[in-house]
Amino acid sequence: MPDTNKPAFDRPVDCVSGIGPKSAALLANLGIVTVRDLLFHFPRDYQDRRHVTPIANATEGDAVTVEAEVVRARMVRLRRRMSLAEVTIRDGTGEMKATWFGRGFLAKAFRPGVKALFSGPVGKYNGLALKNPDYEILSGDEEDRLHTGRIVPIYRLTEKVTQRMLRRWVFAALDAFGRHAPETLPKDLCSRHGYPPAAEALQTVHFPDSLDAARAARNRFAYEELLGIQIGVLSVRAGRHSEETGIRHVVDGPGLAAFRASLPFALTSAQSRCVADILEDMASPRPMVRLLQGDVGCGKTVVALHAVVAAADGGFQTALMAPTEILAEQHALVLREWLAPLDLEVMLLTGSTRGASKTRRAVAAGKCPVVVGTHALIQEKTEFHNLGLAIIDEQHRFGVLQRGRLVEKGLNPDMLHMTATPIPRTLAITVYGGMDVSVIDELPPGRQPVRTRLVAPEKVAELYAYVCDQARAGRQTYFICPLVEESDKRELKAVTTHYDELSAGLFADLRTALIHGRLPGPEKDAVMHGFKSGEIDVLFSTTVIEVGIDVPNATTVIIEDAAQFGLTQLHQLRGRIGRGPEQSHCFLLGDPKTDDGKRRLEAMCATHSGFDIAEEDLKLRGPGEFHGVRQAGLSDLRAADLVRDVRILDQARRDALEILERDPRLEDPIHAHLADVARRFQSINA
Ligand code: ADP
Ligand code: MG
Repeated sequence: MPDTNKPAFDRPVDCVSGIGPKSAALLANLGIVTVRDLLFHFPRDYQDRRHVTPIANATEGDAVTVEAEVVRARMVRLRRRMSLAEVTIRDGTGEMKATWFGRGFLAKAFRPGVKALFSGPVGKYNGLALKNPDYEILSGDEEDRLHTGRIVPIYRLTEKVTQRMLRRWVFAALDAFGRHAPETLPKDLCSRHGYPPAAEALQTVHFPDSLDAARAARNRFAYEELLGIQIGVLSVRAGRHSEETGIRHVVDGPGLAAFRASLPFALTSAQSRCVADILEDMASPRPMVRLLQGDVGCGKTVVALHAVVAAADGGFQTALMAPTEILAEQHALVLREWLAPLDLEVMLLTGSTRGASKTRRAVAAGKCPVVVGTHALIQEKTEFHNLGLAIIDEQHRFGVLQRGRLVEKGLNPDMLHMTATPIPRTLAITVYGGMDVSVIDELPPGRQPVRTRLVAPEKVAELYAYVCDQARAGRQTYFICPLVEESDKRELKAVTTHYDELSAGLFADLRTALIHGRLPGPEKDAVMHGFKSGEIDVLFSTTVIEVGIDVPNATTVIIEDAAQFGLTQLHQLRGRIGRGPEQSHCFLLGDPKTDDGKRRLEAMCATHSGFDIAEEDLKLRGPGEFHGVRQAGLSDLRAADLVRDVRILDQARRDALEILERDPRLEDPIHAHLADVARRFQSINA
């Protein structure tokens, strides 16, 4: 049966009785085009209207639902063209008022004798009054039962579409098609988790008998979505794992042994684990697609270097791609320092590198084992002799296509993605679900957490004096000013102005410098060099130094107008310090105007770990704002909520693994629907 009825779900929504072309056009604003869209427009909340409170029992401070008749209604004019609707209502037990501040026009909607339902808090206005209650006028027919005396759904609305209309339409759609909802979840999974069958769940999610039943019904659909996604991403991984077309790298060569012996410190056990993961992947003929995740300063670079040296031992080239020129330049500097003793040359290739065509010739001829660069690496004219390892730093800043283009420069090179932007685990196993993941969850020994505090405007002079003291003690400071876009001239002024004023004034005795994205490459290089070698005390900068810059002697960061930044970005900026043994300090300036801004800055002061910051960020901003989430098509989930559904997600992942084990190609007809959903998500990590 389901199959013959499936098309009904795909029919345009105006085939539902009561929905004409005009209503259909309005519904389109909610993304509702088909019957399925309407039925899957789930309530954002419910209101329990099973219990109607008699007016005589209404008590100030309670939230109640009252069913009453309008006695009279009037508009009261207030000062400044404001108005109030004042409606007197009555039921068998007494009389009270309902008032709507600023919405005097509502008085017209309530003719005497009209019966209506009012839900809201009980306050005072010439006696007891419902303040700005939700209301629904009852028509006295059958249909009223949809809106009262039950748990009613509350939907996300759009202009000219009311709760009542939506409820009526959803009800009609359920009535006509709901029974035939195709069962899209295999029966055994449904019963294993105690989920209701699709048709029943659909009915329940809109018009539940209890809030528990509503939750179970919604969970069913959330589970189904998350299961589909997990099957999608995990099948990509499973497919790769069964391939044997990659490179078998040498992982016990002389270079790597020499590199290991040259390390001035012992790796943390987290680093050793990650190195082992990576080398195992590289030695195997399966193409590696691994994500190396770790908080700022945890030491990802030295881990990645093991891979670079191993590739070079077998005569393969490595490309390291970074999202900005500054970061690429910084990587090139660091890699050169580490690799020079091993006689491995590192070349830099960015949009503004001088002699780029000469570099390209060297790379194409295989004369250069390690190339660090920006998008210049994936331009058509860049060719490699034998690219065997591709490393992508801050990988979420690149699109799937760009990452793919780097891979195509070689013959199935191993891929190592790196990110210092921790994302909450629920997102990680979704967005990165198809990669193998290694996490460095430990900082090198001796690091002290950065102390972070807010600085009130009147204390700024004191702070500047502190910076001068630090400079005299030989320690360096970053002074960060917001810059939303690298091309935003107005913002650029902020950093230049601060630099001009302070370096001529309070910081006149200090060695200061200015850096921002619009500085020509060689100049940026010179400034960064100067700061790194300790010739500069205070570096005024935009967020171009956000990621990757490593100067352990810098112990102070001042962030101007800190509330302008997101949490993750603040954490990255703070990550520039606390890299050496000295206690480091982060000072947040500016006066947050919004609650959100305040909460962010408070979270920064209270929280050190990037993962905790990411969790907080997820709560504050929701998943849509995270890198990669929109790109992955996860912002149009209908039932699942990546913030709340942690438990369901874990379950879905376990079940997905089990299903793929039994039916790797999803050929069993009971998996047909899951296979459809999965296909949509397969491209995420491809
Ligand atoms: P990330 O790239 O993860 O932010 P880096 O690779 O820049 O971190 O490392 C931060 C600093 O810590 C560097 O100066 C690096 O040399 C140093 N470092 C890395 N691993 C260790 C370790 N195990 N012990 C001591 N210092 C380390
Ligand atoms: Mg390999």
